[in-house]
Amino acid sequence: MADGEFDIIDHYFRPLSHGREDVSLGIGDDAAIVMPPAGQALVMAVDGMVEGVHFPVDTDPADLAWKLLAVNLSDLAAMGARSRWATLYLSLPEHNESFLRRFASGLRDALQAYDVALVGGDTVHGPLSASLQLSGTLPNGQGLRRSGAQVGDHVFVSGTLGDAGAGLALIQERMQASPPEREQLLQRLNRPIPQTELGPQLLDIASSCIDLSDGLVSDLGHILKQSGVGATIEIDKLPLSKALQTVTSDQQARRWALCAGDDYELCFTVPPQRLAQLEAVHAEQPITDIGRITDTPGLALRNGDGSPFEGELAGYDHFKSGERDE
Ligand code: ADP
Ligand code: MG
Repeated sequence: MADGEFDIIDHYFRPLSHGREDVSLGIGDDAAIVMPPAGQALVMAVDGMVEGVHFPVDTDPADLAWKLLAVNLSDLAAMGARSRWATLYLSLPEHNESFLRRFASGLRDALQAYDVALVGGDTVHGPLSASLQLSGTLPNGQGLRRSGAQVGDHVFVSGTLGDAGAGLALIQERMQASPPEREQLLQRLNRPIPQTELGPQLLDIASSCIDLSDGLVSDLGHILKQSGVGATIEIDKLPLSKALQTVTSDQQARRWALCAGDDYELCFTVPPQRLAQLEAVHAEQPITDIGRITDTPGLALRNGDGSPFEGELAGYDHFKSGERDE
């Protein structure tokens, strides 16, 4: 590696290595050494982003770095794991001070907010892309999976859905909004809040879990397929933010809630006999019961009066194409 790249590591990334007692050796050697607690299993995920494919060319590097950690935190949360250590692969076309300053500041914000240590990485010369590998832990033998949903289970989602989809429409100038809503929706797209507390709380409660990166229909579809079941979702129960309802029609809001990605909420199933346990979790954070697991394969969408919800999913693939590629 070139000398300039050692300067980059020392200046921007080594300072982010500190802050966890379970790191015995962080940035600066050939590899990092960390200490998982006794009785815990390691859980790992990696996610990368390439300029022009996963983020627009003019994305704020601080938002990019935040999101790079957040999407991985969301994956580990969906397993019920607690995140601890990250490594970063960064490919840069040039030594761009302002990019590095912004990127490191967004990464520092996210690492501190979620108590994760950056313990190593690789910095190379090439087209702009970044990839972050995140490790965490779970008590041995535990872990939420996509398989495990059973007929009769309730289907829940955390938070509100569709906000990031609206944020993307704002960025792409397919929609307009006044400042407070615009800010709120863009924030949901650019600085997603992973459900790092909720995930581990669901370990003894949920029968299956996934994080919503590609949209409810697609991601719940993974649970259904891997569990060998179907589901009925009540459209009127989809949790929508005030901001989303302010900027668009009910029709469009629901379409985003069903099909747009990047919300990073959790979707999980709970057997009826564990609903009482879920109450305590619910008291701490917003979750919504949106439907039931059934023995009819596939996903059925129903209106409040029980009639089938028509028309929306026809446009789903078209709506998604060209927006995301993963
Ligand atoms: P090696 O050649 O042994 O792979 P490098 O010279 O690539 O080591 O990196 C030196 C140290 O800096 C290593 O500890 C590595 O983990 C760390 N490092 C390199 N790039 C990054 C980065 N982008 N973020 C965090 N740590 C990094
Ligand atoms: Mg080496």
